[in-house]
Amino acid sequence: HESLLIRNVSKTYANGVHALSNISLTIPPGMYGLLGPNGAGKSTLMRTLATLQEPDQGEIFLGSLDVVNQKEEVRQTLGYLPQEFGVYPKATAEELLDYFAVLKGITHRAARREVTEALLRQTNLWDKRKQKLGGYSGGMRQRFGVAVALLGNPKLLIVDEPTAGLDPAERVRFLNLLSELGENSVVILSTHIVEDVSELCTHLAIINKGQILLEAQTQQAVGAL
Ligand code: ADP
Ligand code: ADP
Repeated sequence: HESLLIRNVSKTYANGVHALSNISLTIPPGMYGLLGPNGAGKSTLMRTLATLQEPDQGEIFLGSLDVVNQKEEVRQTLGYLPQEFGVYPKATAEELLDYFAVLKGITHRAARREVTEALLRQTNLWDKRKQKLGGYSGGMRQRFGVAVALLGNPKLLIVDEPTAGLDPAERVRFLNLLSELGENSVVILSTHIVEDVSELCTHLAIINKGQILLEAQTQQAVGAL
């Protein structure tokens, strides 16, 4: 199992905002929490890890893969659940997951059926698979997002502020699901909610104004939270 290495990563936007200032982190497989207030730089770091934007400087490696310079290779083993996971409301979960599976390169029909059934069962959506996504609750939509993000067994799973729209019960179910399904991948969960991190992440970093204030095992950091 490979770790994610982030070395001296910086990003300044055109408006002069230093969103990331010399960030270095070593992120092992399992659930890792990136905790910080609004504007801290979480989404900038998450989008950078997801190869959606490039840092001004610094290096990022997933095992031997160069995340900044080998985007195509990284994308083949990347799952990304953005803050607002938009879905086509008239499609059913079954149809859309099948479609995303094709995009992920799972072209063989029987293989696709096997993969999508397993994911719909794991995310507790199997019974709802023939319903249109427009009728899904927030929690169901997020679980569907997890199913999409897990297609192809990604080594790296990026989950940006996933619990924002969820009620407390949905929140707990969602986090448990993520920690269960993500135990073999590097899973990075960004959030401004301390409990999201303290309950399920083994390691955490606290980010503020583009800088890492603390990097620790969650157990050791509990006092500081
Ligand atoms: P978050 O919810 O993570 O705090 P924001 O509300 O800061 O995110 O930003 C929402 C979106 O607007 C993001 O896609 C971000 O890139 C963009 N954005 C944020 N601040 C600015 C800005 N000053 N100029 C241009 N785009 C921005
Ligand atoms: P977070 O996800 O922790 O809320 P962001 O990464 O969205 O933080 O934003 C970090 C800082 O960068 C904020 O000050 C935000 O306004 C700014 N920012 C984000 N996206 C952009 C953008 N596209 N252009 C300019 N400034 C941005």
